[in-house]
Amino acid sequence: MKIVHPRRIVGSNAERTRLHNRQVVLGHVRERQPIGRAEIARISGLSTQAVSNIIAELEEDGFIVEAGRQSAGRGLPVLQYRLNGDGAAALGIEVRPDAMFGALVNLAGETLFTTREALPKNDPKTVADVARRIRTVALHGRNAEKQDILGAGVVMPGPFGKVGISGAGQTALHGWEETDPVALFEDALDMAVVVENDATAAAVAERVRGVASGLRTFCFIYFGAGLGLGVVNDGEVQRGAFGNAGEIGHVIVMPGGRQCACGNKGCLETYASRISVRSKLACAGVEIDSATDIEKLYEAGNPHLMEWIGEAAGPLSQAIGMIENLFDPETVILGGAMPDEVLDHLIGALHLPGGSVAAREGRVSPRVQRGACGRLTAALGGAALVIHDTITPRIAAKT
Ligand SMILES: [Zn+2]
Repeated sequence: MKIVHPRRIVGSNAERTRLHNRQVVLGHVRERQPIGRAEIARISGLSTQAVSNIIAELEEDGFIVEAGRQSAGRGLPVLQYRLNGDGAAALGIEVRPDAMFGALVNLAGETLFTTREALPKNDPKTVADVARRIRTVALHGRNAEKQDILGAGVVMPGPFGKVGISGAGQTALHGWEETDPVALFEDALDMAVVVENDATAAAVAERVRGVASGLRTFCFIYFGAGLGLGVVNDGEVQRGAFGNAGEIGHVIVMPGGRQCACGNKGCLETYASRISVRSKLACAGVEIDSATDIEKLYEAGNPHLMEWIGEAAGPLSQAIGMIENLFDPETVILGGAMPDEVLDHLIGALHLPGGSVAAREGRVSPRVQRGACGRLTAALGGAALVIHDTITPRIAAKT
């Protein structure tokens, strides 16, 4: 197994430029395949010699392959190249408080493998052990000789580091305040690791293969244990100064409202999230463990679940109006660990504020829609982040 470490090679300016140019060339091959060297040079502004060198290197690494010759007027037909989808893959791992998900995605964005592992505890050691197991199972029997593993995108609920809302009850992972998650996972997985919050990774997955395909500016409200917001602005994810942008769950939508584990009262998460539906059902004597349990209750028309949808719709509508006015997105997507049927019902029950920059004529995308990547969206997004770091410096660098 050959593991490459793209993020560890950031040295001199010349090296960074070389990596950037490599991403640019690979990006053009992916977007316009089959494509020849001269055309890549013309589009990218790189010299034909530079493109030729990079093409040779990418071919040697197995990222691209020859795709025949195409006649271009006089002279010899031009050699064409295309992406070798199976030439490399990335691992995506999502850590939730009670379970971990793994996905292996190839260079073409195709899912090769997915898995779910229950988490008895979510301290760093247990999580690292389960991550190691996911790696072993995911890579077992793969085309190990020929396929590079580019790295892993590990997705975790925020917030990261010591902040006022860390350790916020059931939505948080325990014992992580002193842990550097990148170092922990690089050691456990023996490969380069990017750590991202779940909502941002889910947004990337929707951009790559879901309903945000072709959109440059959009927001994703992610139902994990809590509630997160992923923001993609002009093709780039917004992380904030400390990686904690988008903690929408702890935005107060009802001053003086329900007590939240973060210490505030009336946080959005106490009305619209997995923990809020869980506590609503627990009050009625119904225990749930997974999204499948919620799905069964919904199919049975459980009145407490229906009541929760009604109660969540108001605060969520208010938060969406706020998000629209803050970010002016093309659309707001709902997704994550909640059954599609429940999300659809919830979207139908929203009362979006008329006073919003999003309430305008001639909209192309709906103001709110459900994501298309399902419950594995964040794990797939983790892998997609690594693939896109390889292919393009910007996640939506379509030209
Ligand atoms: Zn809160």
